[in-house]
Amino acid sequence: MDLPNEDTNLTDKETPLAEMQDVTQSFTLETGRSITVLEHIHLAVKQGEILVLTGPSGSGKSTCLRILAGLLVPTIGTVLADGVPFEGINPLVSLVFQNFSLLPWLTVAGNIGLGLEASPLSAKEKEEKITRVIDLVGLEGFEDAYPKELSGGMKQRVGLARALAMDRPLLCLDEPFSALDVLTAETLRREIVHLWVSHSTAIQSIILVTHNVEEAVSLGSRILVMGTSPGQIRYSVTNKLPYPREEKSPAFKAIVSRVRDVLTQEIIPDLEEEWNAPSLEAEFIVAIPPVHVTETIGFLEILAKEGGRIDAFILAKRLRRDSVHVLIMASAAELLGFVDTPKKIIELTEEGWKFVRSHINDRKQKVHNQLLRLKLVQLLLQRLEKELDGMVEKELLLVDIHGWLPNEQPKETLDTLIQWGRYGELIGYNDDTKEVYINRG
Ligand code: ADP
Ligand code: MG
Repeated sequence: MDLPNEDTNLTDKETPLAEMQDVTQSFTLETGRSITVLEHIHLAVKQGEILVLTGPSGSGKSTCLRILAGLLVPTIGTVLADGVPFEGINPLVSLVFQNFSLLPWLTVAGNIGLGLEASPLSAKEKEEKITRVIDLVGLEGFEDAYPKELSGGMKQRVGLARALAMDRPLLCLDEPFSALDVLTAETLRREIVHLWVSHSTAIQSIILVTHNVEEAVSLGSRILVMGTSPGQIRYSVTNKLPYPREEKSPAFKAIVSRVRDVLTQEIIPDLEEEWNAPSLEAEFIVAIPPVHVTETIGFLEILAKEGGRIDAFILAKRLRRDSVHVLIMASAAELLGFVDTPKKIIELTEEGWKFVRSHINDRKQKVHNQLLRLKLVQLLLQRLEKELDGMVEKELLLVDIHGWLPNEQPKETLDTLIQWGRYGELIGYNDDTKEVYINRG
């Protein structure tokens, strides 16, 4: 079997900040035996990303990081910094380690200054830089403290400040939070993401090694999952969820469980067919625009008769409706993926064409599937499922709707949701008892 040791981003046009090309790493043990810990690895750190390497202990994560940083020369293969081979330490890299690696006889400022030893800055400029990074990581007042006087979290802040002082574009972090308590780790994660997002430092990209899957999904814009014997890249997933990430959200959990499945070998990933990670759209709660289903379907049919593409204002004239109403219908149809609205043109999508060409039951099924993708629909179903009989009074649901969408009219939102949900056979509504219930088919 061919091992998928291919990081899928190698075709990007921009030169990666750091890159390993066909790297194999062997070590000779004391017994004289040689072990191969990485084999034919291709890995690139793109500009502007947080690349996370995760995987079981011994899969070669740290070894990859050390090779990219220039701390280790690989047995076979090429390592590039900004497209160019380098000797010794990678000039674009600064490093932060799990064990902080602070010198006990130097103060906080002294330890941070270690990062500037080779720098051409004047003594005064160095001092200013140290003050600035102390400020960035929240260590004001601790300049003259010694490592033994600091908590684990503070020590790691010193390690981070030392890296920041170097003004390098690629920050390399090897299990930087694993020696810290949960809350401190959480705070530092947020701060590092903030430093990266805010562009307040020289950092363009981050490569982070962690065996903690939640941490990987919380930080990574791309996650590479490694496997053992020999170390290999098994899987790559792009994570577009917005920062700071909500660990309780369904999309977050979906990525976590996907990565776990790969780690526990429950799925054998196929790198070529990259898994379609949950995108942002499911994360935002939006109301269905207040238009009737049958009217919207009529609108789609007329659009098809017009060749599938028409100016919104011309269509409004044909339908003898005002253009605002037509645009509201278009936005409902767009939410369901049936039309696109580039500028003021309304255009049937492929899904839209399939919809108008299908029969009533297929249409219902298509609306059913599209509705299920909407966050609001997911929330409503979860709410109904909490009840034993899957049934909630409409009046009570209005309170939930108001909580989810404080800026919309709850009644209008719920009425629209009910009639679309009825059409898609997701939910039902009992006119006598005024209750909404799950349609269990
Ligand atoms: P990870 O960080 O994923 O836990 P490492 O990159 O530290 O894994 O190590 C990968 C494998 O290489 C492990 O089996 C480890 O024992 C071995 N290894 C790493 N460095 C050396 C070394 N200097 N000499 C011998 N074996 C090593
Ligand atoms: Mg390691």
